[in-house]
Amino acid sequence: MNTIIAEVLRKLNRYKPRVLIGMCLILISHSNWADTLTTMPLRLTSDSISKIELQDWVYANKSDDIETLARLLQQPGNTWQKLNPKQPYKIGIENYWLSFSIFNPNDHLSRIIALDNPLLDSIKIYHMIDGDLVSTEIMGDTLAFKHRPLQSNIFLYPVQFKPGETHTFYIKIDSKGSIRLPLVLWSSNDLTQITETKNLFNGMQIGLLLAICLFSLFIALASTSYSYSYYSGYVLGLTLLTASLYGVSFRYLWPQWPFMQQYIFIIVIPLTLGCSLMFTEKVLQLKYHNLKMLYLCRIMAVLCFSLTVIMPFINYSSALYILAFVVLTICTILMAFSLIQAFGGQRNAPLYAIGRMGLMIGCIITGLIYIGLFTPDMSPQTPIMIGLTFEVLTMAAVLALRYNDERKAKFKIQQQALAQAQRLRETREEALRSEAENNEKLEQMVQERTLELEMTLRELNEANQKLTEQNTIDGLTGVKNRSAFDRRLIAEGRISRRQQSPMSLLMIDIDKFKDINDQYGHLTGDFTIQAIANTLSEYLKRPTDLVSRFGGEEFAIILPCTDKEGALLVAEKIRRSISELAVVHNGHTISMTVSIGVSEAIIDSDQHPLLLLEQADKALYQAKRSGRNKVCSYQLETDQI
Ligand code: GH3
Ligand code: MG
Ligand code: MG
Repeated sequence: MNTIIAEVLRKLNRYKPRVLIGMCLILISHSNWADTLTTMPLRLTSDSISKIELQDWVYANKSDDIETLARLLQQPGNTWQKLNPKQPYKIGIENYWLSFSIFNPNDHLSRIIALDNPLLDSIKIYHMIDGDLVSTEIMGDTLAFKHRPLQSNIFLYPVQFKPGETHTFYIKIDSKGSIRLPLVLWSSNDLTQITETKNLFNGMQIGLLLAICLFSLFIALASTSYSYSYYSGYVLGLTLLTASLYGVSFRYLWPQWPFMQQYIFIIVIPLTLGCSLMFTEKVLQLKYHNLKMLYLCRIMAVLCFSLTVIMPFINYSSALYILAFVVLTICTILMAFSLIQAFGGQRNAPLYAIGRMGLMIGCIITGLIYIGLFTPDMSPQTPIMIGLTFEVLTMAAVLALRYNDERKAKFKIQQQALAQAQRLRETREEALRSEAENNEKLEQMVQERTLELEMTLRELNEANQKLTEQNTIDGLTGVKNRSAFDRRLIAEGRISRRQQSPMSLLMIDIDKFKDINDQYGHLTGDFTIQAIANTLSEYLKRPTDLVSRFGGEEFAIILPCTDKEGALLVAEKIRRSISELAVVHNGHTISMTVSIGVSEAIIDSDQHPLLLLEQADKALYQAKRSGRNKVCSYQLETDQI
């Protein structure tokens, strides 16, 4: 007990302002005695643990209008009260004074006071040793980073303790943002160690978020997918917020621009929220599943983007309250959407809901820590950051699933299109094949028809030839008829003219034929005509010779390349053979004679053949006149007579 009193007295001596306040308080009211005792400073020895949470030794001043240390020191003791770590969390404070004392009885010690809230706007530290002000330090994120006594993301103040010294600190804090005041006294070794570990984890988290952000950005660019671009916007926002929350962005991104610290949250939070809403709309496919939710999502997104523009012009603390409200409301609505969709059987919704749930739980735990209902041995930011990372990873998985679904659907459509194209090709090939077959058949048919036609034509030709042949034949006798004779006469006339060869004609008339008809009848007459025709044909063996029935019982014979002597010889042979012929018909034996007129010439004009025919006829007439059964050749002289 004596030791305690001695200690107290020594403290009273070294800690004059507090002592005075304490004494006054004791004098004014005994009820404050206990408070005065608890103002005892932290007793520091070399055995003290290397990390001492200072909150048990920290006092806060109730007044909020004291701006200078001098005025503060004039305040009565009852304006001080022990800092309640469980006090409700609030945003924005002004002229907030804290005080604590540290007594170092024996050793030379080097320690660092850490205030692990990088977002505090202004921190003024008044450092007194044994009642004398030895140093004043101003820190905060409204000042450029280089002003900090130790270059760290969080606020650090190094102190050297000599034996027997009592160090008293008065800290004035002004901040528009979060008022979390985790004051810790560190040995520099442990602080370095813990800072390294902490920085490693913070860096890992920021790196992870940044990697996911870049990854999704590249996928968004490569696949022109809206979901991925919203997601990358969302993660980029979260990365920036996380980096700012850890004090990393101030240190590395904008160390010269403290004003950025003011605006970064109020601008980036609504932007991130907007991206989150757009991303949710896409990933839950609200367009296909729930139009009301889709419109609500879009309205909220528009609201968020508008807030981004409006926020910088609103009072900072109010902006933070508005944002806190908006974030909580929208997160709750999104949570509800995802749960409704999940229970509605939407494929991606359950995983999305789980991710949201993770973030929500993180938020709730952080909230509980802030309001003091839950005091685990961790920074209040840790649960929300874990929740956030969990959510981001889950969302990446959701997105990957959705992307895979889309890819599968596309693949399926492609397959169907391919199959359809294949069917189309097959049908076309089939059509072509059958067309080719038809063509072949058609060609074959045409060939067959052509063949048939050719055969028919040939037959027709043959028939025609036969007919033409028949047309040249005399029906009764089988020798050439008159028209054949006429054509041949002209043709042989041309040959004679060209070759200058003699050509002879024989005109043969049966003598007294009328009598035969009269005596034996016309049929017998016909028969005898046939018999004579046969005899004539037998006598004329040269292929160019032509026997024809000139008309009635008259025959005409063309002897090409035959001169008059030859012709007369042939005519004489014919005459004789016929005169020796005895035709037997119907029991009658009939004899007869013929008269023959012969003409001969080398043809010299187109009319000459007819003239030759006329001359033969005249010669025949001559033979008749000479008594019949004669051969007469045409004599020009006779003709002229
Ligand atoms: P000729 O010549 O010696 O002066 O006396 P012809 O009796 O032969 O007289 P003509 O030449 O004038 O008479 C020919 C007769 O021959 C007339 C006709 O009755 C007969 N005749 C003509 N053509 C045919 C025929 O195709 N068949 C038969 N049976 N008789 C015919
Ligand atoms: Mg006659
Ligand atoms: Mg006659």
